[in-house]
Amino acid sequence: MNIIVAPSAGFCFGVKRAVKMAVDAAEACKPSEKLNTLGPIIHNPQVVKSLEEKGVYSVNGIEDDCHCTIIIRSHGVKSDIMERLKSKKVTIIDATCPFVKRAQNYITMATSDGYFIIMVGDKNHPEVQSVISFADKNRFLIINGLDDLKNIPVSEKLALISQTTQDVNFYNSVINEVFKITKKEIIVFNTICDATKLKQDESKILASNVDVMIVVGGYNSANTNKLKNICKAIQKNTYHVETEKEVDSKWFINAKTVGITAGASTPDWIIEKVVNTIRHLDNNQKMAI
Ligand code: SF4
Repeated sequence: MNIIVAPSAGFCFGVKRAVKMAVDAAEACKPSEKLNTLGPIIHNPQVVKSLEEKGVYSVNGIEDDCHCTIIIRSHGVKSDIMERLKSKKVTIIDATCPFVKRAQNYITMATSDGYFIIMVGDKNHPEVQSVISFADKNRFLIINGLDDLKNIPVSEKLALISQTTQDVNFYNSVINEVFKITKKEIIVFNTICDATKLKQDESKILASNVDVMIVVGGYNSANTNKLKNICKAIQKNTYHVETEKEVDSKWFINAKTVGITAGASTPDWIIEKVVNTIRHLDNNQKMAI
C-alpha cells in the first residue's frame, strides 16, 4: 500500500509560532510563576496535554489579583478582554497569529470608514469572535450559509471579510451573491490564509488520486473538519482521526493508495504515528496472505 502525506499537512506558521512561544515561556518561567493560556492554545487536545506537562495550563478566565503570565492563543482574543487583561497585573505574551491580527486591523479600518461588516465564518469559533469584536456593536453580520444573506442590510456600504480557515469556494460564492443583491459600494478583504488554501488545494488533489483518505486532527478543530468535508466530497472513503488509536484496518481492505492530510493544529508526531500505524496494518495484512 502506497501512503502519500500531503506536504502541507500539520502545523501552520501561526500555530507553530504560538506553540513555540508557549514552550519558550515554560522554559524561561520560574517554578513559582503561573503560566496560563486563555482557552486551549490550539484545537488539539494532545498538544494541550503536552503543554500541561511543561506547566502551561489553559484557563477560561483570570482572577482580579492574578500575578500570572497569560499567553494569548493564535486565534486572538476579543478586544474588550485584551483591554481588561492590560488593566490587570498580568504579563501578556501575545501569540495571536499575525494573519488574524491583520483581519482585526482590517475590521477596525473598515468600521472607522463607516462600512457594515459581513464576516463569513462560524460565529462560535474563537477566531471569529476575536476578529468581529473589533467591529461596532450591531454593525456586523456573521454568515455561515448562503441563506444568511437574506439578513444583509442592502442599503449600507459593506465590507466582506472571512475567517482565515474558510473554504475559498464558499467565500467566493458569498462574494458573488452579495454583489448581486447590494446597492452600495462593497470592499472585499481576502483574509483566507495561504496555509489554509494550500492545505485545501493539496488535499483536493490527493483525495482525487487515492483509494482512502485520512484526515488527522482534533475533532474540535474547525480547519480539520473543513478538510474532512472537502475530502469527503471528492473521496467517499475519507476518515477523520484524532490519533492513531482510531485507525481501523477495515478502511484499507483492497486499498492500493492512501492519502493523509492534517489540520493546522496537528503536530508532526501525531501524523507520524498515524502513518506508522497504517504501515503496520499493511505489513500485517501482507503477512496474513
Ligand atoms: S491557519 Fe493561517 S491564520 Fe490560522 S493560525 Fe495558521 S497561519 Fe495563522
